[in-house]
Amino acid sequence: MAGEGAVRADTAEHADIVIIGGGQAAAELVKSLRREAYAGSIRMLCGEDYLPYDRPPLSKGVMKAGIAMDRLAFLNAAGYEKHGTEIDLGVTATGIDPEARTVTTSDGRVIGYGVCVLATGARAVPAPWAETTRVHSIRTYEDALRLSGAINDGAQRFLVVGGGYLGLETASSLAASGLEVSLVEATPQLLTGRASNFVANWLKEQHEARGTRIYLGSMVAELEERDDEVHVRLANGTEVVADQVVFAVGALANLDLAKEVGAECGRGVLVDNQCRTTVPGLYAIGDVASYRTANGGEARVESVFNATAQAKVLARVLADKEPKEASVPTFWSDQVGVSIRLAGWVPPTVETNDVVTREDDGWLVERYLGGRLVGIESMNRLMEYMRALPEVVDLRKKL
Ligand SMILES: Cc1cc2nc3c(=O)[nH]c(=O)nc-3n(C[C@H](O)[C@H](O)[C@H](O)COP(=O)(O)OP(=O)(O)OC[C@H]3O[C@@H](n4cnc5c(N)ncnc54)[C@H](O)[C@@H]3O)c2cc1C
Repeated sequence: MAGEGAVRADTAEHADIVIIGGGQAAAELVKSLRREAYAGSIRMLCGEDYLPYDRPPLSKGVMKAGIAMDRLAFLNAAGYEKHGTEIDLGVTATGIDPEARTVTTSDGRVIGYGVCVLATGARAVPAPWAETTRVHSIRTYEDALRLSGAINDGAQRFLVVGGGYLGLETASSLAASGLEVSLVEATPQLLTGRASNFVANWLKEQHEARGTRIYLGSMVAELEERDDEVHVRLANGTEVVADQVVFAVGALANLDLAKEVGAECGRGVLVDNQCRTTVPGLYAIGDVASYRTANGGEARVESVFNATAQAKVLARVLADKEPKEASVPTFWSDQVGVSIRLAGWVPPTVETNDVVTREDDGWLVERYLGGRLVGIESMNRLMEYMRALPEVVDLRKKL
């Protein structure tokens, strides 16, 4: 049974583990719990109307090609049944009572729990302009369907706001579909704080070579929907006219429930290396959670790697087994026709000494801090990447 599951609330419904959220982290937790021979009951509250699904394909071409949900879902309904997990689709948790160990739901129920896991993920930063049907986020399947609908209706000119991975992947997919793309980024370079200068500059060249117009160091000053178009004025005075705008400037952790129960939060819910929050019986995994770093800092890593690694750690904790230490974070990004692999957590404030090995068909970037390898980035250099991976120091345990 769940490690702390001693308290049983006097409610009609009860599960040893109640998972709030139905994304990558929740799905992996269910699979990992059963893999660890956890025998208790599990219930998952999925805010969306879909079983947990894979988000990365949403920015990598799905919006153009379209994709059936059954190809994105991690498990189908029979799979969850096999894993002994009850799922409520389209039901959100509206409150947690950590004393009574109950969760209240949007359909008016009260569910007792032994332990509660927050896997509520994150939501797209909302666009600051008045509601318009021509401005899109790209976080959910519904978002991707809406964008794909606009493309199918004939939209040709796109403005992507945000030069992070999401914005760049979206720009790349749109450009690869023959659409006209402009991208605006507020900071003076792409992927600020998320990649080495080499990778940022290399990607800029590649995107521009594919016809994307990139405006760096500039923000959207004004946006107006007029005559079936979106008229955008950038802070540097440039006017961009687009049919549709994709707003991709980041995601905010869904922290409301954690804050309401007084769990310590920064940009995410702070958890220790066993995914425990500061509230007894309450755990957090995935995009909503932040690791406490060695010196009390915060590392919130939004990635598939992090969601699955934390779910695996927590599954062992809840199955009363010694958790395996999570390895250094790894990431990937598919854009401009290539797959980039990255490893290591390098906070935006840290300046690294980067050693670049570049050949015609690929490159490897080794990022050093005080003589220690703290990050690697590669394109078409899988062998070298794999060889260097064990050497990468996890800065979350040092800084
Ligand atoms: C378009 C896109 C592309 C990406 N590409 C990559 C990539 O290439 N590589 C990579 O490593 N990562 C990528 N990511 C990031 C990766 O998908 C996320 O890190 C991962 O999905 C996090 O999983 P999660 O379960 O923590 O959160 P989520 O997947 O956000 O799932 C959380 C779920 O919980 C639900 N929820 C929230 N509040 C409640 C509530 N109160 N009650 C019930 N349900 C609730 C939400 O509606 C959501 O369905 C991408 C993300 C996006 C959006």
